[in-house]
Amino acid sequence: MPVSTAPTAAATAPADFAALRGADPQMAEVLLAEQDRQASSLQLIAAENFTSPAVLAALGSPLANKYAEGYPGARHHGGCELVDVAERIAIDRAKALFGAEHANVQPHSGSSAVLAAYAALLRPGDTVLAMGLPYGGHLTHGSPANFSGRWFDFVGYGVDPESGLIDYDQVRVLARSHRPKAIVCGSIAYPRHIDYAAFRDIADDVGAYLIADAAHPIGLVAGGAAPSPVPYADVVCATTHKVLRGPRGGLILCGSELASRIDRAVFPFTQGGAQMHTIAAKAVAFGEAETPAFTAYAHQVVTNARILAQALAAAGCAITTGGTDTHLILADTTPLGLDAHTARGRLAACGLVLDTCALPHADGRGLRLGTAAVTTQGMGDAEMVRIAGLFADAVGEQSKEANDSKVREEVRELVGRFPPYTD
Ligand SMILES: *Cc1c(COP(=O)(O)O)cnc(C)c1O
Repeated sequence: MPVSTAPTAAATAPADFAALRGADPQMAEVLLAEQDRQASSLQLIAAENFTSPAVLAALGSPLANKYAEGYPGARHHGGCELVDVAERIAIDRAKALFGAEHANVQPHSGSSAVLAAYAALLRPGDTVLAMGLPYGGHLTHGSPANFSGRWFDFVGYGVDPESGLIDYDQVRVLARSHRPKAIVCGSIAYPRHIDYAAFRDIADDVGAYLIADAAHPIGLVAGGAAPSPVPYADVVCATTHKVLRGPRGGLILCGSELASRIDRAVFPFTQGGAQMHTIAAKAVAFGEAETPAFTAYAHQVVTNARILAQALAAAGCAITTGGTDTHLILADTTPLGLDAHTARGRLAACGLVLDTCALPHADGRGLRLGTAAVTTQGMGDAEMVRIAGLFADAVGEQSKEANDSKVREEVRELVGRFPPYTD
């Protein structure tokens, strides 16, 4: 049963949009074209979603004008009485939603949240154990191109070459031999639930902090469709814009004893003034995530991902770990005789928008897909089977221009029945 969670009001308040069109027609045209692109193609990027009109309204509000360095009741600027109320609401809702003792809602992004967590718990040069980048670790988990790889000594764990699952025995062996100051669990591509209790046990074994980077699954956690890292991790880092369906931004959850260290690590250590319009929009999203409709949404996201994974396997893709527990699917297109880059190009030409991603224990890359956005649009079981069919048609043998435009039309017809925003 598809769960219709599609927002019902106009994406852009007409009056505001008229003002933009009058003041800057060139940029108005870009915004309209992007709105049309999002509505007329299939958004299968695992990290993306459609926020509600209420979230967009908060983002486009005059709170964007306010400077508010510091925290509610302790700001470095005047006139913060009302934005203090907004931030307190956001904090209280985040704490209630995730059952956390403390929440910091100021990180500008998921990466900023991770930076602050490291700043709170580590010193430059400390050893950190995290999922290796070839297995699904994020840039902030030790990439040499990122501050994390430059300032800390990262050791990477991997996944079992046969099952694709995290090898907890290997994690323990690496923890015992490298004695990390912190262990990071979380990934950009791992499609299965993480065993947070096992990570807690390993961290305790070696006296390490446990940091859960739950940027991807935190929305599923909010909807009760994935296990929560909050009872196990010292610090939970997250984004608010992936399955959680809020504005672009970060979030940190922790226990009371680390609260002031985390707050100081966000401001003033790694950030300046908080973005109050974004914080208000986070509060709106947390409020939406508390509803039964969001619980139903989160479960439908997973149901949809399982059906889509199965249908893609039937179409000839090799699915990492054989399926998914989450919104994420990692697919190898090698059995179709295509590398991921070529497949992504053919899919894009037909209006199926998705990413390539490192494949564990493989030379080439794979495709990473997610069902958060299409589920927000109200798509369900039947549409997932249809999407897999369109996928197969797009990457199929007869990939000629005529075929592409036929598939492109079919994609338009499908998404036309599930507009992300209606007016
Ligand atoms: C998305 C993601 C991030 C970073 O979020 P940004 O908002 O893009 O900075 C960090 N860690 C993980 C595991 C992620 O999936």
